[in-house]
Amino acid sequence: MENTAAISFEDLKLNRQLLNAVAEAGYKQPTPVQSQAIPLILAGHDVLGIAQTGTGKTAAFVLPLLMKLKYPQGDHVRALVLSPTRELVLQTGEVIETLARYTGLRHTCLYGGIGATRQIESVRNGVDIIVSTPGRFMDIYLKNEITVKHLNTLVLDEADKMMDMGFMPQIRKILEVIPTKRQNLLFSATFPEKVERLSAEFLEYPTRVEVSPQATTSQMVDQVLFRVPNFRTKVFLLEHLLRQNEDFNRVMVFTRTKETANNIYKFLERKVIPEEKIRVIHANKGQNTRINAMNDFKNGDISVLVTTDVTSRGIDVSEVSHVINFDVPLIYEDYVHRIGRTGRANSRGQAITFMTMADEYHIKKIEALIRMEIPGQDLPDITIAPTSFEEKQVMLREIDNQRRREDPDFQGAFHEKKSRPVQKSAPARRGSKRKS
Ligand code: AMP
Repeated sequence: MENTAAISFEDLKLNRQLLNAVAEAGYKQPTPVQSQAIPLILAGHDVLGIAQTGTGKTAAFVLPLLMKLKYPQGDHVRALVLSPTRELVLQTGEVIETLARYTGLRHTCLYGGIGATRQIESVRNGVDIIVSTPGRFMDIYLKNEITVKHLNTLVLDEADKMMDMGFMPQIRKILEVIPTKRQNLLFSATFPEKVERLSAEFLEYPTRVEVSPQATTSQMVDQVLFRVPNFRTKVFLLEHLLRQNEDFNRVMVFTRTKETANNIYKFLERKVIPEEKIRVIHANKGQNTRINAMNDFKNGDISVLVTTDVTSRGIDVSEVSHVINFDVPLIYEDYVHRIGRTGRANSRGQAITFMTMADEYHIKKIEALIRMEIPGQDLPDITIAPTSFEEKQVMLREIDNQRRREDPDFQGAFHEKKSRPVQKSAPARRGSKRKS
């Protein structure tokens, strides 16, 4: 974090209550997004922050927010943070709880999936900050339980995710009912066109703060790429990694589908990892199961979490030792989100990716996104399973489709390629860096 070396939290002009809380939280130095965003927010600017979780972006808006609100005042909410999921709402709530402990400022978390009575009660008791999912905020507002006339700061967190999840109509409704004179902050892990349009609509003369994925991925995480011929060899490699290394003590294993997640989980639980040390989560698992598994993982009660991308965004799990991309993600930003689970807030982690020949196309795209080549590594001494005819056909067909996508005139090399050896066919473009 070269550009922040000289900046301390004292330099950011935070008050004593906040400096004490920051010190107790164990933050020694502001992260880049904090040292850039905090002075701008304190000066009253609208800010557009492009930063993923893991960069310290929550504290980057929470600290100046607390500084602005100063102490409890009246009963009505003055700052609103909108987040896409219940998990993120609770996580932001925890950051506020930690950093606001000496300010007396009151906050509450609102989200769906459970009854609203207690949440309404907490709003009635008087709050300075509400952290909420858009839908639940609007529900409670429409019951006339939230007075918004003192609301002067609005934060849209994980804006890209909120748009992906279709929250735009609810957000528009909220913008219609809250005071127009306010400070707006928008944070997003990625900056696709739709977020750009939203920011143009929502922010007034914003100052942009960007922590590039490149900086995050290369600075915090050691990345490794293994070229693997087929599914079974991937399983052997996973088994080898988890068996051989004691430092693989908090590992997230990412798969593309629920089925693979379940299969990998069953295999590991039967043969490699004690049952009580491993869990699997994906979209078919209930909210409570997911939250419990996340909490057990966060607390260190389990050491391996097998998961699809439902959990790859947003959720803060500190000190993940390793992220293993059993499957390469097809939504390339998910690579950044996945590996953002490790090497968080100044502790290094390792992200290990398994690449079949059909994945090479996707890896190239990911490397373009993160603006670096992921270093390859030789396979350790494991059994290399033969590639079945069917699996080979599937991969070759996939490669044909990828070529067609790039070049609509491409005729298809499927038949002529059929007889080529799978493993040794790697193109020379990566030179000696990536051996098969
Ligand atoms: P976030 O990007 O907001 O999800 O934060 C990721 C993690 O970094 C959280 O566990 C924070 O507690 C931690 N964190 C935030 N700021 C700092 C800092 N300046 N120094 C060390 N850890 C931090």
